[in-house]
Amino acid sequence: MDIKANLEAVKKSFKNPQCQLIAVSKTKPVELLMQAYDAGIRDFGENKVQEIQEKQPKMPDDVRWHMIGHLQRNKVKYIASFVHLIHGVDSFKLLKEIEKQGKKVGRKIPVLLQMHIAEEESKFGFDKKELEEMLADPEFRQLEHVSVRGLMGMATFTENEDQIRKEFKGLKSLFEELKTKDLPDFVELEELSMGMSGDYLIAQEEGSTMVRIGSAIFGARNY
Ligand SMILES: *Cc1c(COP(=O)(O)O)cnc(C)c1O
Repeated sequence: MDIKANLEAVKKSFKNPQCQLIAVSKTKPVELLMQAYDAGIRDFGENKVQEIQEKQPKMPDDVRWHMIGHLQRNKVKYIASFVHLIHGVDSFKLLKEIEKQGKKVGRKIPVLLQMHIAEEESKFGFDKKELEEMLADPEFRQLEHVSVRGLMGMATFTENEDQIRKEFKGLKSLFEELKTKDLPDFVELEELSMGMSGDYLIAQEEGSTMVRIGSAIFGARNY
């Protein structure tokens, strides 16, 4: 597995060279993360709190840890002090827990709100109505220890490119629509995290600012 060569190939294929690359290292050993680090990667994505906790002390201090998966409320406390960006905020309850833990550690924790854009029921995220309800809630406006940086979404797992494109387009248009609304100062909609190994080129064509790429860099995962 030549991680450096994989990274070069992935970056070369980018439709938008400004798009940020998050190297999704879940299930992979620290030795492989270090190969990506040595090739210049600083942004790593993990989907399990326990795995971030294990890897974080073994990796250099300038690594930026992205929590990309579903996050359980009772685990926020373990990553609150150092996590760079939580991509999968999918409920107001979770956001309030992040607020609470951010207050404890004295930081404003950067988050993305995850939207449910896929056909599959299994994927997490707000629907538009739930999002609007939260944004209009007076309690939302009082948050002080979170910084909402944008939206995240995962397309349906399908070969049908038209479907994937349609879902990413929908997320992008919601993103643009939200930017026109009157939102509190801690909401700065700059990032649109969409695209993985199988669909990042489509995502970039549809306006992604951040892609989360695992298997195309580190190889297939064995669970
Ligand atoms: C695993 C994962 C990825 C990366 O998937 P690949 O297909 O290996 O690129 C991206 N985003 C999330 C939320 C994931 O859980």
